[in-house]
Amino acid sequence: MNAQEQKPFEEILEHLNGAKKIVLMGCGGCATIFRTGGIKEVNDLAERLENTGKEVLARIGLPFGFLCCYLPVSSKFVEEHIEAFKACDAVLMMSCGDGAQTVREYLDEKGVVKPLFCVNNALGYSGGGPTQFHEECLGCGDCKLALTAGICPLTQCSKSLMNGPCGGVRPDGKCEVDPERDCAWVQIYKRLEKLGKVDLLLEMREPHDWSRAARPRREEVESIDMMEELARTKRAIEALGVR
Ligand code: SF4
Ligand code: SF4
Repeated sequence: MNAQEQKPFEEILEHLNGAKKIVLMGCGGCATIFRTGGIKEVNDLAERLENTGKEVLARIGLPFGFLCCYLPVSSKFVEEHIEAFKACDAVLMMSCGDGAQTVREYLDEKGVVKPLFCVNNALGYSGGGPTQFHEECLGCGDCKLALTAGICPLTQCSKSLMNGPCGGVRPDGKCEVDPERDCAWVQIYKRLEKLGKVDLLLEMREPHDWSRAARPRREEVESIDMMEELARTKRAIEALGVR
């Protein structure tokens, strides 16, 4: 998921640049998990803004699982509040930049062109939870986990080396650049040893091909049947005992 943290309130006010009427829109995905844009955070930020004299025209909190970056979902919430979007001076997106720009493009296409920015700083694809998360993937477009025991050297090694470890690895197996972190290549070695595939380390891996990371990338997929998927989600939620 997309790790993120909220910007300092002073920076948010600075970006608002005097705008008075605000629309706040959160996200039911990563922003809810990272507490940067769930329903509670939308209400908290709305109150802080109102205390500084701003007028919050809409507090759009998306329930958990409803993603801002997925247009078939977010457009429904936008439409529900379209008059507020038309009337506001600025839109504050409490999501990652992906969700923010998905909504911005939708509004632009409808001719509702407003100052819009993200109140969160995105910190990269990260996994874990419920409280500890760490970056796992750069989205390089050419996954090499098959060659590296399922541990991503591009993300976990401070130098993104495809052949390691470097000469600076510490005797205790920690990274030269950050002594708090395990060297990625020591971890790769240990895991290959468990898999009985240490000989893979003898093969020289080519420098990573970053051409698949050239931006902006685009992908076309067959659309999911959202109602069918939501019905499955409903059954899964009920199976968890949530009524
Ligand atoms: S090799 Fe690329 S796609 Fe695979 S985990 Fe690392 S950054 Fe992500
Ligand atoms: S010590 Fe290991 S993780 Fe750190 S830069 Fe060198 S190879 Fe990469």
